[in-house]
Amino acid sequence: MGQSVCKQFIGGEWCDAAACEFFEVTNSSTGEVIAQSPLSGVPDVNAAVAAAAAAFPEWAATPVSRRAQYLFRYKVLLEEHLDDLAAVLCLEHGKTRPEAIGELRRGLEVVDMCCGMPMLMKGDTLDDLGGGVDYQTTRYPLGVCAGITPFNFPGMIPHWMFPVAIACGNTFVLKPSQQTPLTAIRFTELMIEAGFPAGVFNLVHGAKEAVDTLLVHPDVKAVSFVGSTPVAQYIYATAAVNGKRVQAAGGAKNHFVVMPDAPLELVVPNIISSAFGCAGERCMAVANVIAVGGSEKKFMPLLRAAVQKMTIGRTDQGSEPDMGPVISAEHRARIEGYIEAGVREGANLLEDGRGVTAPDAPDGFYIGPTIFDGVKPEYTIAQDEIFGPVLSVLEMDSLDAAIDHINASPFGNAACVYTRSGPDARAFRSRVNPGMVGINVGVPAPVACFPFSGWKDSFFGDLHVQGHEGILFYTQQKVVLARWLVRGALDTFGCGSGS
Ligand code: NAD
Repeated sequence: MGQSVCKQFIGGEWCDAAACEFFEVTNSSTGEVIAQSPLSGVPDVNAAVAAAAAAFPEWAATPVSRRAQYLFRYKVLLEEHLDDLAAVLCLEHGKTRPEAIGELRRGLEVVDMCCGMPMLMKGDTLDDLGGGVDYQTTRYPLGVCAGITPFNFPGMIPHWMFPVAIACGNTFVLKPSQQTPLTAIRFTELMIEAGFPAGVFNLVHGAKEAVDTLLVHPDVKAVSFVGSTPVAQYIYATAAVNGKRVQAAGGAKNHFVVMPDAPLELVVPNIISSAFGCAGERCMAVANVIAVGGSEKKFMPLLRAAVQKMTIGRTDQGSEPDMGPVISAEHRARIEGYIEAGVREGANLLEDGRGVTAPDAPDGFYIGPTIFDGVKPEYTIAQDEIFGPVLSVLEMDSLDAAIDHINASPFGNAACVYTRSGPDARAFRSRVNPGMVGINVGVPAPVACFPFSGWKDSFFGDLHVQGHEGILFYTQQKVVLARWLVRGALDTFGCGSGS
């Protein structure tokens, strides 16, 4: 792939953006610039929204069973092209191939769910609630919906949004991260092959200006956002004040609690895959492990031994390291800044990922797995979202202390407990206040039929992505009260009996 300028897809045509500023998309494994992503603005976004608005009436009037057929075709194409989509994702993001395939499969599961939209969108009926009046609820699409997505799951997170919105009868404008636009371009090609009518799905690029245009555009009825907490807060407030529905998922700081009776055979592999999978660039990654009652004595030696065996390397050429690079040199520098802060604040740096390189790719954005212990709850590394392969281990005396620490975090995405005790697991499940809880599982990220249920500063809005909530978000409900007059009943209204 050369240094091409990314095209937009508007009203069924690939087109150049009007923008004259560009973001350099890099191969994270080598640091090489591989494409220019236009920093689109008002004219580009307005054109995309106009195309989506024009396509809406006909698409909304297309029977849901027919809309689902387009999704079936798209699902088959995604399955067939999983490998080439994964290759693009590995290139622009730096994920390993199994991570890329896993991510894409998670996106595909949402498309699978949407193929069942005729079942999922059904309303309720209740006959004769008094006076012969029958009740019925029917769900209708909203109009043009917009999706704004982060760099870290370019193959999955857009699929949390547009397949659901489109299957419900809406039309869609997607604005992927300027850092990872190429995966979106590849799946847009598959949307074209699936035959969706022009204007149903549109792709624009860009960053703040493109987003701001979507947030205030009168024809955009709903905004779905996933990204960092400050931007999520801004999106929620700005879109809501402009009269739109909003679901805005933000950042995270996730915890594992390891009890003294924890099943060690699960603890160590789960910490490794959760903390260091996708180079720690996951909103569900574990950042803090809380060792209760001295459990660290059992799992730490095993964890360190496993980490020391991990391989780090390039992911753009089909090789299979355990971990790839992070997204950019700036992001790596930010992660390194947190490692320096941890050392300064007094934590013990047991494994230091700084300075790791891939021999054949010296300019790639590498940083190895990093582990601190002796971390106090008030340290910056225990509180801030680092979004890299940095794990903090905190020691506490009791499950209660661990729950109190987790609940004091402003974030509320995920927490897991490792224990063989039913009462401890039950206490954890009911008292801990992130919205996604795991009991002896690695990453408690729900599959498509359950909502991705962040709380607190990890989510702003009412209806989450995925599951039934996603369908409620992209539809509005009408309640119809109907009375059909039967022979003789007209007399009740003084209208005569008719003939
Ligand atoms: P980001 O907030 O920087 O960017 C997300 C999107 O917002 C991008 O499309 C970007 O172009 C746009 N954007 C950035 N700054 C903006 C601004 N000032 N105004 C308007 N739009 C703006 O996030 P990122 O770095 O791409 O992604 C990483 C973050 O996403 C992490 O905080 C991570 O926890 C979070 N995330 C959350 C979830 C979740 O489900 N809660 C899932 C994945 C990632």
